[in-house]
Amino acid sequence: MSMGTGVLQPSAPRELGLVIYVITPPRVPIKDSLDRARDVFGPIGIDLVPTRTYELSSTQQPLYQHIDVGGCTMGSPISSRKHHSLHSIRYGAGRKGLAVYFIQSTTPPVNGCSQHPPNTPGALITANATMWTLAHEIGHVLGLFHSSNKNALMSRATTSISGKPSLSFPEVQTLLRSPWLT
Ligand SMILES: [Zn+2]
Repeated sequence: MSMGTGVLQPSAPRELGLVIYVITPPRVPIKDSLDRARDVFGPIGIDLVPTRTYELSSTQQPLYQHIDVGGCTMGSPISSRKHHSLHSIRYGAGRKGLAVYFIQSTTPPVNGCSQHPPNTPGALITANATMWTLAHEIGHVLGLFHSSNKNALMSRATTSISGKPSLSFPEVQTLLRSPWLT
């Protein structure tokens, strides 16, 4: 049967593998952020599959609590060596798994930053992030830019989101075309 509506219907849920690296436990529990991200991506046919959660070793942990992220500009090269080397930690993530690093803080202070080296999908989330920051940064890694809609997932400040954040139809199409889905 044809849907005939012009809506992009994935034939089966697509999966996004997530591997979590805890440097500093966040204020919002990781499980809650994952549940919020599932609330956003599940209904459009993207299953988030957290494969593993790792705590960094006691020698690595102090090195990465605080990261200089510069302008955190998507698509441009990472400016700080420490930010770059954090993204080389991706054991268990495979080639397509999205590596999520929970750290203490950044300079300048941001809730999250999804700038990552080519071919190593990942994002960092800081300790004071909101419950929607993880979903927002996943949105960036899957190809989305900021939205001027205050209630959008991709609103510049996720603190402005009340209720379930929205995704536009073109945003959903972009997400479903992401090369990081399996
Ligand atoms: Zn953003």
